[in-house]
Amino acid sequence: MAKLEVEILTLFPRMCEGYLAESILGKAQASGLVAARVTDVRDFAPGKHRVTDDAPYGGGAGMVMKPEPLVDAVEAARARLPGAAVVLTSPRGVRFDQALARRFAEQGRLILVCGRYEGVDERVMTAVDMEVSIGDFVLTGGELAALCVADAAARLVPGVLGNDASAGAESFAGGDGLLEHPHYTRPPEWRGRKVPEVLLSGDHRRIERWRRRESLRATRERRPDLYARIALSEEDLRLIDAGDDEL
Ligand code: SAM
Repeated sequence: MAKLEVEILTLFPRMCEGYLAESILGKAQASGLVAARVTDVRDFAPGKHRVTDDAPYGGGAGMVMKPEPLVDAVEAARARLPGAAVVLTSPRGVRFDQALARRFAEQGRLILVCGRYEGVDERVMTAVDMEVSIGDFVLTGGELAALCVADAAARLVPGVLGNDASAGAESFAGGDGLLEHPHYTRPPEWRGRKVPEVLLSGDHRRIERWRRRESLRATRERRPDLYARIALSEEDLRLIDAGDDEL
């Protein structure tokens, strides 16, 4: 059985299917580590016209997604994935982050509900466990948000990334809350810009210290909010201002 089972409920299945079929997520499904399903909410709308939205009570611009098809779709998904976390994508939800991605990956079953138009009828909230936002901006629909959540959770499933160490070392991931250090690849010099000498030295302990220093510096400069929460060791305090010859 797949280690992560994800179901996305949407009015626009093709928007999601293309992304899920490619690259790492496509391979994760082919190898059985991840099972992804995309369900068309319109399949739960009755009648010839399969209407899923209606005008808002009280007036105002835009349409609102009706509760019946959406909740019927959620219930069908819950029956397929008992114990799943049911998440409604919404700008007013809790902010998605790496810790939440890890929680979903560990839970192993995830149902993601995509809103459209002005959003969903408030009564849909009774059918979901939580609302999640991917940031303080408004998208036209929840599909990109659902894919962000599915992608971030899937790549944390052991075996999905070719090299499991690459998930552990990157930004936010190490448990220390630091941003990741810079990366370089060949050529060693390009347009007059050289790869830091330390990285070419073959001295792995020095390379580790250089990476730690660069992570500390990047976090201090770019994300002082994260930096303020980090428990710095004495070695960190030494490293952050150390020159390359002091590593
Ligand atoms: N009227 C809503 C408001 O002002 O909060 C915005 C609705 S938005 C146009 C339509 C749908 O896109 C939402 O129901 C939600 O599913 C999705 N969406 C938009 N922005 C999002 C965000 N930042 N995070 C997660 N989902 C988002």
